[in-house]
Amino acid sequence: MSYLDHIKKVYGPYTRKDNRQHVVIILDDGSKKTVSYPKYLKELELGRELDVNLETIDHVNRNFTDGSEDNIQILTRSENSAKSAKRRADVHDNCVWCGTRFKLSTSQLRNKSRDKAGPFCSRSCVGLYGKSLQNNCGERLDRRDIKVTYYRNDD
Ligand SMILES: [Zn+2]
Repeated sequence: MSYLDHIKKVYGPYTRKDNRQHVVIILDDGSKKTVSYPKYLKELELGRELDVNLETIDHVNRNFTDGSEDNIQILTRSENSAKSAKRRADVHDNCVWCGTRFKLSTSQLRNKSRDKAGPFCSRSCVGLYGKSLQNNCGERLDRRDIKVTYYRNDD
C-alpha cells in the first residue's frame, strides 16, 4: 500500500545545503517519512509511488531547485545514465596551444574549472607548450600546471 493514501500532514519543502529539496511527511499512524520534493510532487501527480529500482527523477534543466512541473521528468535508470553520458560527451573546447576545437576528456572536464593550464588537444601540443616555457618564450604559467591537464588517450 502506498504512503500517498495515508498522508496526514506535509512539512516543507526544505532546502538542503546542496540545494536539493525534500518534504517531511507525517502519516496517519504518526510515523514520519522524508521524501525528495520533486519525487513527492511527481508521485502525487501520478497517484502512485515511483519504483526506486527502475525510475529516477530527472531535472530537465539540471537545476535541482527548479521544481516546476515541466522541469521534472521520470527516466528509467538506464535512460538517466545515457543522458549523463551524452552530456559528458558533448563538451568541446579549444586547445590553448594550437586552437583546434576538440572533445574534452573526462579528466580534462574535471580540471576545467580548477584554473590550470590547458586544455590541450594532443600530447604534442602539451610538449610544444612545455618546450616554449622551458625556452622562456614569455608564458607566465608555471610548467608544473601542465601535468594536471595532460591529454589521455584512454578517456
Ligand atoms: Zn593543440
